[in-house]
This record gives sequence, structure tokens and C-alpha cells, in this order.
Amino acid sequence: MAFATEPASKNRPDCSSPPRVVILGGGYGGVYTALGLQKAARNGLIHLSIISRENFFLAQPMLAEVVSGSIEPPHIISPIRRLCPKSNFHQAEIEDIDLDKRLVVVRYREQPDFHYIPFDHLVLAVGSSTDLSGTPGVAAHSFSFKTLGDAIALRSHLISILEKADVEPDANRKNSLLTFVVAGGGYTGVEVSAEINDFVKEASQSYQHIEQTEVNVVLLQGSSRILPELDAESADFSQRVLERKGIEVRLDTRVTGATSESVTLKNGSNISTRTLVAAIGSVGNPLLEKLSCERDLRGRPVVDSNLMLVGNPNVWAVGDCVAIPNAVSDQPCPPTAQCAIRAGKHLSKNILATIADQSVKSFAYKDRGVFVPLGRFSGAARIMGFKVSGFWAWWMYRTFFLLQLPRLKRKIQVLIDWSLELVFPRDIVNLDITKSHQTTQSHYDPGQIIFSQGDLAQGFFIILDGRVEVIREKDGGSISIATLSTGDYFGEMSLLYGVRHTATIKAITAVDVVIMNANDFTMLASSSSDFRKLFSKAMTERLSGLGIENPNEISQSEHEQINDNGKS
Ligand SMILES: Cc1cc2nc3c(=O)[nH]c(=O)nc-3n(C[C@H](O)[C@H](O)[C@H](O)COP(=O)(O)OP(=O)(O)OC[C@H]3O[C@@H](n4cnc5c(N)ncnc54)[C@H](O)[C@@H]3O)c2cc1C
Repeated sequence: MAFATEPASKNRPDCSSPPRVVILGGGYGGVYTALGLQKAARNGLIHLSIISRENFFLAQPMLAEVVSGSIEPPHIISPIRRLCPKSNFHQAEIEDIDLDKRLVVVRYREQPDFHYIPFDHLVLAVGSSTDLSGTPGVAAHSFSFKTLGDAIALRSHLISILEKADVEPDANRKNSLLTFVVAGGGYTGVEVSAEINDFVKEASQSYQHIEQTEVNVVLLQGSSRILPELDAESADFSQRVLERKGIEVRLDTRVTGATSESVTLKNGSNISTRTLVAAIGSVGNPLLEKLSCERDLRGRPVVDSNLMLVGNPNVWAVGDCVAIPNAVSDQPCPPTAQCAIRAGKHLSKNILATIADQSVKSFAYKDRGVFVPLGRFSGAARIMGFKVSGFWAWWMYRTFFLLQLPRLKRKIQVLIDWSLELVFPRDIVNLDITKSHQTTQSHYDPGQIIFSQGDLAQGFFIILDGRVEVIREKDGGSISIATLSTGDYFGEMSLLYGVRHTATIKAITAVDVVIMNANDFTMLASSSSDFRKLFSKAMTERLSGLGIENPNEISQSEHEQINDNGKS
């Protein structure tokens, strides 16, 4: 068991080392909590850590503008280490939270084992997640829209669609290529459909065989109006703006399935398209599912008015991942950036008050306004009870989120992007980053360990050239049980049985391998019985070489090993 670089043992307030505050998530909630704690960390009053999947903070409300090229992707992100320099930052996947032992279980990228980070105060700020599994084909054939990678991939796809449509001789296929469907008429769906519409229509001017009138953007909303976050009048106005721009808005229309070439609707009809953006399926973060705590009807953990997880002292939560009661309304706080920012700032004060044995304050949220950008020069907004629409709403949205953007450098860069956009046409260079290699090659020198027995699954390896030795460690000794050479493979057992590696693989000669990542391998294995059969014979032989007759035995023993590590 490995402890990360945190003070080793302090679970009692009488210890001399400062209390360890660990923040999970580097989004709005996590970063704004951390910002409020920087001074205390600098003065040594707390030991502050942030754990997040990416090493940057992302301004999600500006994500749609990356699709249209209004903003360059790096300009809406900021490195968390620079934003919160007095924190100990861990870029890692958070695997589990043990509230009893007061430990967070993390896995650093490409590391062979879990690490355990102890805490005295824990902040849950891991945001929400997306689950599209309930609608057949949608997960496989849609673009989700939450991360910077999602926005870059969608932009790249739109440009490649224009390239294909420009040379497509078949009118039906061209129509399908130039039809862009967005499912979900909330904030995200509305913003994305408006940006796609603006971008594709403007970019089409650079393609000789595409007319603007051939571009169809369709926004599907399951309920009777778009933008449930806004009042009905603003939502109606927004819909009229979208329609004026040529976007087809279909209300009471649900997606029931998708293939690579069409989207199926609840009424049984199909839309022929190669582009489906899924701005639907928002669910709680699966990381929090196992926590034993009070939950709301949507399954989100509930905090009390001080932002503490009900029944869990010194475990706090902010942002989209929890239900936050609102002292000024009978509705819970909305899942918005504005609310996460204010809750984060408030929470930092409550944590410091608790540490100083002072009283904490209830969180009350009254939004100062709601903004929805509707593409170039148009938007809808409600500010302090006043409704604004059109150009001024768009301008106010931009000003508001520009001011919220952390760091002066980023503010200036975004301002320059927006200014250039007024003068020059949007870029249509396709960097094609969606084809980044999921399957990689690697080289090992003679004697080098490729992975060790007991490591977490590393991927599926095929030997291109060279020889490796399979070594099994048992009872303090090690025996060589097989030699594998060009064309042989290894690593499949831990992926297929979901256990740690059952043997060490060591290069005998210089070795070149192809490595398929774990996700791709398990997807192939779960989707094809032929694929599984292909491996079952070899695995049975290998298991008997390890002295294991029943595969469940390794599952059992390896799970015990993981649990033991967790306990030790
Ligand atoms: C396209 C889009 C447009 C939006 N527009 C607006 C808008 O106009 N106005 C507005 O107010 N709000 C808007 N929102 C909503 C707003 O962005 C969210 O409410 C806000 O980001 C919530 O902040 P958060 O900190 O709770 O979660 P997030 O910002 O989602 O941050 C969660 C963090 O936790 C990390 N994380 C999660 N799970 C793990 C794990 N297992 N291991 C490691 N790290 C993990 C993530 O990587 C991320 O860094 C928009 C959202 C989107 C997606």
C-alpha cells in the first residue's frame, strides 16, 4: 500500500501537524474552494491537496465557443498548480473514498498501483457525469459535450463532415452529412446547436459545393419547452432566435436510438445524420454512488445548509455532484457554474471556521442572473429580475464569463480571440486529433520489466519482435514459467478477469510490442464472443501453468489482495 506525499498520520485535532484538507475535483466547485483556502495553506494553518483527473481548470460555459473556433482551446483552461500554488496537486483518477478510514484511493496515470491519500476534511466537488446507456446506440454514435476533448473532437468532426459533403455526389448522402442533430434543449444543447449552426454555415462559404441552405441543424427537446433553467418568456424568445437563425427546434421529441447513419425518435421516425450531439443523460458522479449518506430523489448525496454531507462530520460537498438546500428558496441550488463558485467560496470559510472551532454559516444562493448565448451577437439573459435579449444579452454573457475566467493572461487571450473573430473568418483547419493513437507501440531493453506480478492491469500486449519471460512469484521465490516470442501476446488475463497481473513479464532480448489500452480491449472482449473464445484456450493453458484450475480462484485471491491493501 502506498501513501501519497501527505503528512502521514493525523486524524486527531490535538496532533501538531496542520489538518489535511483534501479537495476532490478541479472544476468550479473544487478550485473556488481551494482559492478561498490558499491564504490558510500559505500560513501553515492547513495542509491543502487537490486531486483531479486533468491538471487544469476548464471554464465549461465557454466550451461551445471552442467548437465554432471563437476561442482557442487552451484559452479556456488554466493549470491548477498555478491557480492554487499553495496546494499539493495530484493529477489522478479518484477510484474510491473510504469515509471510515478517512482515505481517498487514487490511481496516477500509468502507475501500477493504487495510492491512498488521508484526510481530516474532505471536499467532494467531482461534478456530474453522463450516462447514455439507456438509449441503444446513442453512447456509441454520439458526441458528448462536457470536456475540452469533447469540444475539440466535435470541431474536428464538423470540419471533416464539410470535407466529405463537398465531394459527395449523392444528394441523399450529402443531405445526411449536412444534417446536425443535437439532443437536449437545456443550456448545453442550446449553446452547442447555436455554435454548430453559426460555424458550419460560415465555414461552408469556403467549400465550393456546399450552399448554406443545405445545412440543417435540428435541436430535439424531450419536454414542451427548451431551457427549463430560464423563465418561459426567455425560453420562448431563445427558441425564436434559434429558429430565425435557421435551427429546427422540435419540442416533445425524444431520441430512442442511434446508429452511425441515423437517429430514431420516439414517434418511430428517423433523421438521417452523421452527427448526433448528446446534451442529455446527466447523472450523478458514479464515484459517490457507494458512499453511505442521505440522498435526494435523483440519487445525489445531500448536504446540510452548511455544505456538510449529512451525517458525515468534516466531509463537505459543493457543485453539481450534490444536492444543496437553498436558504432563500424551497428548490435545491441549481447545477450552474455561478452556484458552484459561490458555494466554493462559502465552503472555504466554513472549513476554516470549523478548524478554528468557530461557528459556521448557512449557504444561501440567489442567482444574480442567467445568461444563454445563442450564437454570434445573440443571447437571452435575466439579470436581477430584468430580462434582456439579443445583442446586449450576448455582450453581458461574454463580459460576465470573461470576468469569471481565472488569471489575467487567459482573460486577455480570450479577449484577443473574440476581437480577431470580428475581423477574420473562423479557422477550418482540421487537426484530426480524434485519431490520436489508442493502440501504441513500445520498446523494452533486455532485462527490463514490462509489468510486475500484482500490478494493476496495464493493457493488452502483442510482441512484434523479441522474447519475454513470464515469471511467477510465490512463497518468497520466483520461477520462470514460460517464454513468449514474436506474435505471442500477454496481459489479457487481468483485463478479462478484472484482477491484478498474475505474473511478471521481463524482456529477455530487446522487445517491441503493440499495446492496446484496457478500455479498447475490454470493449472488444465484451462485444464479441469469438474474440473471447480466441483467448479462452490459451488462458486455460496459462492458468494451469500457474497451478490455477478455476479462473474464479484468481479473481477471488486477487480481490482479497486488493482489499487487504486497502485495509493495511
Ligand atoms: C457545455 C456546458 C455549458 C455550460 N454553460 C453554463 C452557463 O452558461 N452558465 C452556468 O452557470 N453554468 C453552465 N454550465 C454548468 C457548469 O459548467 C457546471 O455547473 C459547473 O462546471 C459545475 O462545477 P463542478 O465543480 O461541480 O463540476 P465540474 O466543473 O464538472 O468539475 C468536476 C471536476 O471533477 C473531476 N473529476 C470527476 N470525477 C473524477 C474522478 N473520478 N477522478 C478524478 N477527477 C474527477 C473532473 O475532471 C473535473 O475537473 C455549463 C456546462 C457545460 C458542460
